[in-house]
Amino acid sequence: GLREWQHALRAQFPIITGHPDLAYLDSAATAQKPQAVLDAVRTYLTTSNANAGRGTYPWANRTTALVEQTRDRVRRFLGDPDPERSAVHFTSGTTEGLRTVARDWLPGLLADGDEIVVPMADHQANIAPWLETRRELARQGVDVRVVPMPYQRASGDYDHTALADVVGPRTRFVAATHVHHVYGANMNVHRIRQAVGPEAVICLDAAQSVGHLPVSMTELDVDFVVFSGHKALALPGSGAVWARQTRGPAFTPGGWSGTPNTVGIASLTSALAWLDAAGTDRIERWTTALASRFTEGLRHLDAYEILGCQTSLAAGSPAQQRQGIVTFRHRDIGSGDLGFILFSHGFMVRSDHHCQGDAGEKSESVRVSLHVYNTAEEIDRLLAVLATLG
Ligand code: PMP
Repeated sequence: GLREWQHALRAQFPIITGHPDLAYLDSAATAQKPQAVLDAVRTYLTTSNANAGRGTYPWANRTTALVEQTRDRVRRFLGDPDPERSAVHFTSGTTEGLRTVARDWLPGLLADGDEIVVPMADHQANIAPWLETRRELARQGVDVRVVPMPYQRASGDYDHTALADVVGPRTRFVAATHVHHVYGANMNVHRIRQAVGPEAVICLDAAQSVGHLPVSMTELDVDFVVFSGHKALALPGSGAVWARQTRGPAFTPGGWSGTPNTVGIASLTSALAWLDAAGTDRIERWTTALASRFTEGLRHLDAYEILGCQTSLAAGSPAQQRQGIVTFRHRDIGSGDLGFILFSHGFMVRSDHHCQGDAGEKSESVRVSLHVYNTAEEIDRLLAVLATLG
């Protein structure tokens, strides 16, 4: 069963098993690493460390092969339907990946009078770069209009019906987020293609989905997928942009002659292999079940307000699925104080504004975010502590 499967996987995270009195509930910020990833890093550094793309000796050849194999690994992991055509570019994470698409690729797509859709209540990393490109183009006399992505306030999802109404023939580009980093909402991005038609380019911030649920380009007709390795069990400083390359100009990020993060790339290959073996479908089932358990418990405590995904809470509606992220506030206790109190009981959570964009929440909150190593027992202990503060 799922419980035995999870038990075996949890045992593979040394930092988790090494701290039985602590509960790590901040995986949306960064995830812990399984032994296989730690081993892959050590093996790479002790057997093959060299620069990529140069040298004719075995360590350099192995490093070059590692980089190429990892591109293929990323393609396979994302269910790439046309791997001969797509491009994979390594970055330090989602922030740099989105900035690279915005700075190096987007200007080549846009002409005077075009429109771009920007998700103003998502992570700042998925807002600022698009607005900066618009400003840069304006300086060059190319006027691009920003269409704010419409949201449904109650569910935290995009308002896909309203989106269809605000886009038009000049809408060339849509920035979207797969899973919201505050609300945990699955943003139903498969509906975006329907709303915007076959021509527009869609760029997906997959920081909170890659490594947490199946992300398949066979099913999603989007043009870019951008993610961070460190949230997907690999090392910080690793990440990738996958580009379909069937719409707009080719994606060839400029001037790439520096030294790639080969250690990060080694960790990414290992992490994606680990996730494939574990099964992202099962990871999703586990983390969404824990999130439901937590929201159901929290719903019965009057002192707390849960942000986002309200429709599924109210009616048990399948319309809005919450992934493994739950954000909430206490009626009287500030989020910083609440975070401090929770750590005194061994719970590590995030408490602040979570880097949300301008159209986001006005006051701070506490975020609990889950991965495969978390347990129902941790959730029940957390609820018990929260109940004493009610
Ligand atoms: N987008 C989303 C949805 C995120 O959750 C995050 C990380 N909190 C980022 C972008 C930025 O990722 P990174 O810090 O790895 O660049």
